[in-house]
Amino acid sequence: MLSASFIRLLGLAAALIFYSVSSYAQVTDTALANAAADNAQWLSYGRDQGETRYSPLIQINDSNVDELGMAWTFDTGSFRGLEATPLVANGIMYASRPWSSVFAVNARTGEQIWNYDPQVDRSTGWKACCDVVNRGVALYGNKVYVGTIDGRLIALNADTGAVEWEVLTVDPERPYTITGAPRIADGRVIIGNGGAELGARGYITAYDAETGVQDWRFWVVPGNPADGFENPDMEFAATTWSGNWWEVGGGGNSWDSMIYDEELRLVYVGTGNGSPWSHEIRSNGVGDNLYLSSIVALHVDTGRVAWHYQTTPGDNWDYTAVQPLMLADLAINGILRKVIMQAPKNGFFYVLDRESGDLMYADPYAEINWATGVDLETGRPTETPHARYQDALTMIMPGPTGAHNWHPMSFNPNTGLVYIPTLQGTVFPYAIMDDYEFTPGSWNLGIEFDSFATQEVLPDFAYSPGTGPATRSPGALLAWDPITRQPRWAHDYDFTINGGTLSTGGNLVFQGGADGFMRAFAADDGELLWEVDLGVGIMAAPITYQLGGIQYVAVLVGWGGSSGLFGPNFDGEYKPQGRLWSFRLNGDEIIPVKGQPLPEITALPFDDSPELVADGYDKYSTNCMVCHGAEGISGGPIADLRYASDATYGNIQAIVREGAYASLGMPNLSNALSEADVDSILNWILSRRALLE
Ligand code: CA
Repeated sequence: MLSASFIRLLGLAAALIFYSVSSYAQVTDTALANAAADNAQWLSYGRDQGETRYSPLIQINDSNVDELGMAWTFDTGSFRGLEATPLVANGIMYASRPWSSVFAVNARTGEQIWNYDPQVDRSTGWKACCDVVNRGVALYGNKVYVGTIDGRLIALNADTGAVEWEVLTVDPERPYTITGAPRIADGRVIIGNGGAELGARGYITAYDAETGVQDWRFWVVPGNPADGFENPDMEFAATTWSGNWWEVGGGGNSWDSMIYDEELRLVYVGTGNGSPWSHEIRSNGVGDNLYLSSIVALHVDTGRVAWHYQTTPGDNWDYTAVQPLMLADLAINGILRKVIMQAPKNGFFYVLDRESGDLMYADPYAEINWATGVDLETGRPTETPHARYQDALTMIMPGPTGAHNWHPMSFNPNTGLVYIPTLQGTVFPYAIMDDYEFTPGSWNLGIEFDSFATQEVLPDFAYSPGTGPATRSPGALLAWDPITRQPRWAHDYDFTINGGTLSTGGNLVFQGGADGFMRAFAADDGELLWEVDLGVGIMAAPITYQLGGIQYVAVLVGWGGSSGLFGPNFDGEYKPQGRLWSFRLNGDEIIPVKGQPLPEITALPFDDSPELVADGYDKYSTNCMVCHGAEGISGGPIADLRYASDATYGNIQAIVREGAYASLGMPNLSNALSEADVDSILNWILSRRALLE
């Protein structure tokens, strides 16, 4: 009989062997190619090569999901938006958070292994249109790759978090940012950027994953023809432009979706909106403006265009096609077709043949009024007469947030359904700016922003899934059938923007909500099977993995992003402290996060006369709202001004007009706001604060 101490020694030896194996295990091309069948891990942003975010795991399923409990939590220490998809390899979970910092935790326990902060200069935060978020890292070899909000691509040692190499991917003089997750493509690491709202020329770049040496760059739009074209793709694209688009930049920034198809050796990229937004201002209202708002297939060895499909020719509405791309093999009319699918902002769900780029289907998945449909022969949308708001301010659906944004969708091969976090009925008052001038370092949309008065959507002007006028709620989880081209079921929400989705072999779809609830639905019929309050709005997509015979579901919870900047954390009562949650069966009780309550302040006088409050709101909405939130209910990621301390209120002139908080990202606004203006804004803030008491 073995002694107890000998058994402990055996255990120690096994642990050492396990440790050395996990320490030296590599995320290889083979591992990435076989990721779909790898139940233990989640190796890349979309889990498998098609980025379907489907896991075959069945331990947690439609009969027991309501018994989920807490496995562990990890507090991120952040109060801004959490958008990242965590990755799991060799029992370690890697994720990113605001300001592009990365952490590694034990995926069984949540215990921190290492932490890396790229020390982004906070004064560059203004370049981020939509919060200083990060959607995740890539794993390859023994490295972890992250793009930073100030435009760097950094390779870290997966065991230690130490920097292996670092490269600046942007011109720091221009307003580029990186929020998207890098992708791996045959020994390369690929990264894009954002910036089209402020004035930029978009591109993606491929670097050698081992060394960081640049391999190729795909420019989304042409530069100044007088400078010569980088390649024939740009020369061709320039024939679809007019005017001096290069002065502002043209846009097209690919800030989110990229997929590598190892079989066809193509990298598919979703490209962004025009810069400025207005087609009239950007390109004299002339031309399709390639390769804006397109799905572009690039040869992995050269970065040159293999084919392209433009979802929104002559973009005029911030209709990016950067939304998640997904590869699947679908039996259509009895023939197995290799397809690529996307639900971009413009409200149409596209199915394309990914070998040829031919459009197969395009159908509205949300209420829209800019087009009545897409001609499947020409591939072009049929625009409505008022869509280009050429004569007057026009209420267009969807608005710039899109009918679907970056929040990942998932595909379940058992149900054949794509689970899309949709925004139903977003609408925006578009009007062309009369006296537009390019202002470097500022927003450059070419759109009037003084027209937010209530407007009616023109009658007989809206098209929705199926036939007839739409009846959906502000947001909906849509289970879209890409073959019958209809939603099979939907779950309507009272709020617009909700989290990404995960689907599993247990007949489940997981999604977090803006209301801070995590939910699970039956994948086949949409029945709500589980919901639990986590206390803070959820944007990120959940993942699942299995270790030691236990299936876990994990999600990052933290409100922010463009939605958080403009709107409240749903309950509006607490600062949105970030937390990584992991769930399992037979887990512990789930207790929601609660942040700090309203701080005590000494009585500060404010004048609630309507004229003064209106003046304060006027100044606030023009100068502060984009970051601190609309209507003063910014339970969002940047300082909620209602929760400030006595000292902050007392120091407001120095903060706003002398740059006292410049190191925290608060710019000096002395050229825009007088001392009296700031007093007026403070009066308004205090009036909003009083509503909380
Ligand atoms: Ca945009």
